[in-house]
Amino acid sequence: MKYQDVIDFIRSLYETDGFIPLHAPVFQGNEKAYLSECVDSTFVSSVGEFVDRFEHMVAEFTGAKYAVATVNGTAALHVALKLVGVGAASEVITQPLTFVATCNAISYCSAKPIFVDVDKKTMGLDPEALEAFLKDHAVVRNGICIDKITGRKIAAVVPMHTFGHPCRIDEIAEICNNFYIPLVEDAAESLGSYFKGRHTGTYGTIAAFSFNGNKTITTGGGGMIVTSDKALAKRAKHITTTAKAPHPYEYIHDEIGYNYRLPNINAALGCAQMEQLAEILENKRETAAAYRRYFATYDTIGFCAEPENAISNYWLNAILLADEVERNHFLEECNTAGIMARPVWQLMNRLEMFKDVQCGSLKNACWLAKRLVNIPSGVRQ
Ligand SMILES: *Cc1c(COP(=O)(O)O)cnc(C)c1O
Repeated sequence: MKYQDVIDFIRSLYETDGFIPLHAPVFQGNEKAYLSECVDSTFVSSVGEFVDRFEHMVAEFTGAKYAVATVNGTAALHVALKLVGVGAASEVITQPLTFVATCNAISYCSAKPIFVDVDKKTMGLDPEALEAFLKDHAVVRNGICIDKITGRKIAAVVPMHTFGHPCRIDEIAEICNNFYIPLVEDAAESLGSYFKGRHTGTYGTIAAFSFNGNKTITTGGGGMIVTSDKALAKRAKHITTTAKAPHPYEYIHDEIGYNYRLPNINAALGCAQMEQLAEILENKRETAAAYRRYFATYDTIGFCAEPENAISNYWLNAILLADEVERNHFLEECNTAGIMARPVWQLMNRLEMFKDVQCGSLKNACWLAKRLVNIPSGVRQ
């Protein structure tokens, strides 16, 4: 076994002979107390105090002015895109190296994704590739960015902070500004990650977080829209809650809304999880530091450390194997030994439903996709 030493190391980190998952939630705070309080109140569904509390906690933690809870991160992204004007006959620039939810949300708006390459170091959207693509393909007319080939509006740029590592979001924000394109951050993976001292998700016009079971903290299922634009926040609350006009008893809805609100019972879990976030982040940071020291002794395996000017939440630790053959070898040995390891998502441009979309050069994404592996990253007890 070529990678027995790595396997032994991961086992020593997690101090178990049993199966080691990639990530698992931990409930060591007020989860049971809040859930029980929520059940006793009977407000388990669409209204309740935990939703407001959870929203305030996330807004305060991230430094965004407003936060609107949603039923999951995909729904948050869908509404965020819709609110900045993504609709039919528009295009949205994103990275091919992402989870499918990014592109699904774009598709729910009847828009078409465009894939632009990632930066090898951050694994997120590359500002240089973005600028080169826009200089070649886009023209600004009356404050609207138009794709010269298709004639469609480029309605948003959606970078993603891959595995919690912040991308070069300040440069991306500046390019978006120059081309009059709204910036929507897919911050689903990056709660607790900062770029130049500012929390990810606060550089764009609007951003989405996820609290799915495999993320840094969880509400079972859940998401959050954050923005510092009051009008957008108000619209976000309105259309995620069926667009009901306020009235004590009448049911009047003033547009087509969504039932995307986060149930109070999920928010109860979220409040308890937020209370432990600082501890969780510290624990994950120590794990990442241990991996970093360990892999520094290898010439053939690279550890993906947090980028320059950034603090990563190290949601999922990632390593780079020498090539595709070595990667497959590594995956096989780890998974056979009961240690979960997985390759990065298949690139979006290779999925059946997105195989015909417009792409820039995807050199870095292709290079990374062959070599990247995620290794166990959950909180160590
Ligand atoms: C998890 C995730 C989402 C979506 O979150 P859900 O809560 O599972 O809907 C979106 N984008 C990325 C990059 C993610 O990792």
